[in-house]
Amino acid sequence: MTTISIPRGKYHIWTVGCQMNQADSQRIQTMLDELGWEEASMEQANLVVLNTCSVRQAPEEKAHNLLAQLKRAKNERSDLLVALMGCMIGNQKTIDALGKRYPHIDLFMKVEHADILPRFLEERWTPISGAGCLDIEFMPDASDDTVEEIPVSPMVPTFATSTNRAGKRTVLPMAITPKPGERVAHYPTKIEPAKASPAAWLPIVLGCNKVCTYCIVPYRRGRERSRPMDELMIEARSLVNKGAKELTLLGQTVEAYGLDLPDQPDLADLMTNLSEIEGLARIRFMTSYPRHMTDSMIERMAHLPKVCEHLNIPVQSGDDVMLKRMKRGYSLDEYIERIERVRALWPNITLSTDIIVGFCGETEEEFQHTLDLLEKIRFDVVHVAAYSVRPGTVAARWEDDVPLAEKKRRLHAVEEVQGKIAFELNQSYVGKVEEVMVEDTNTTHGRKQLKGRNRANKLVFCPEPDSATSEGQRAIQPGDFVQVRIERATAWSLQGEAVVL
Ligand code: SAM
Repeated sequence: MTTISIPRGKYHIWTVGCQMNQADSQRIQTMLDELGWEEASMEQANLVVLNTCSVRQAPEEKAHNLLAQLKRAKNERSDLLVALMGCMIGNQKTIDALGKRYPHIDLFMKVEHADILPRFLEERWTPISGAGCLDIEFMPDASDDTVEEIPVSPMVPTFATSTNRAGKRTVLPMAITPKPGERVAHYPTKIEPAKASPAAWLPIVLGCNKVCTYCIVPYRRGRERSRPMDELMIEARSLVNKGAKELTLLGQTVEAYGLDLPDQPDLADLMTNLSEIEGLARIRFMTSYPRHMTDSMIERMAHLPKVCEHLNIPVQSGDDVMLKRMKRGYSLDEYIERIERVRALWPNITLSTDIIVGFCGETEEEFQHTLDLLEKIRFDVVHVAAYSVRPGTVAARWEDDVPLAEKKRRLHAVEEVQGKIAFELNQSYVGKVEEVMVEDTNTTHGRKQLKGRNRANKLVFCPEPDSATSEGQRAIQPGDFVQVRIERATAWSLQGEAVVL
């Protein structure tokens, strides 16, 4: 008797949005790989998973376009399943509305409930027979003529069906959502990513407790849930064993880590424990929220050599009236005081922030205050977005009164001011030697180029050093650390030559 493993269906995962979504997709991929499914293009896949983002209108529109395309594809193919996850999944009401609009969605799934996938596939994609799709645990030995051969027929997938009140057989979508008020702490750790890139993500807090008036995240991702420290340590060690050298700790307000855990460890406690992991060289974290950043937390993080000197701390606006309208929970003075404190306690820290322009009622003067703030703080990086209405949020009830053309003008004004500041700040690196972790390599004009980041999260490019190509030397790979002498700097990146110290 010979045990064989025949691949099952093919899957395609489409992902948009933040790092959290990317981390979630890696987990789904691992799960499908473990089930024996094979990655394929969207056109060839039997299961298409759309991991969606609702933070702005544009990524949601992309998902709607794809859902329309998949509807047409499903009319032509009976062997196609569509699963939806990510921020477009909210509560039962949002699921019902999506299900009505797109009856061809077979599964609504939150990442917390991803372990539904095997059951779902068993019920909904159970091919009867045929090469590439039969669930065969063993095959009879060809020389044994006492056993009958298993007949092979073309692939015919069967779908679980149910009967509606009119007596018509239908295929119902599966929706796995928590009941209102139910707190779901479970995160699918068993399906941690099978592979780890040198720069890997570690989601530590799920959901968000803030109620910023423009933001959909709390409605779609639920309340804050910290993952227990033990669980994170196991996952972090495993990621490092699989090749991760740098971990980015993810959360909407990452300093809220532990507030909901029984012994209330904080972010710095977690980082202290993670620092013990041999082979882990760098720890990053995002996104920060000023009111949760205590002096003690900053000081302890600053003293941990593996924690990199970079903070992503969204301000959203430089005007107090706007901050109130956005319900950010801090005044401009409080934000500035936190930044000054961070700079005093953590030498060489670099800062990035998020800005929304054209939020409801934003006057020219209020917008000008945002530009003033950029000049005052001099962030290293600014992520700027034009406000887009998110149905279901508080601000969706207000007039979206800044015309699109004006939002775009303000967005470009932010980019222009920030471009100049970033250019000036980056010049200070010229002549310095920076430790760069290589994340990617590509060949241009016949020479291999290395792309990576320094500790301060600046993008650095340099050609592969000649020494790496000499005989007996191992080629430089993602995950390697290279010392780079910076020779040029733009607003977006640093370029230099690798040096041997
Ligand atoms: N939790 C973080 C925070 O403290 O703001 C970030 C959350 S959100 C996933 C990432 C960014 O998207 C925000 O910082 C904000 O700038 C932007 N954003 C959120 N809602 C938006 C909206 N309705 N329109 C435009 N940009 C938005």
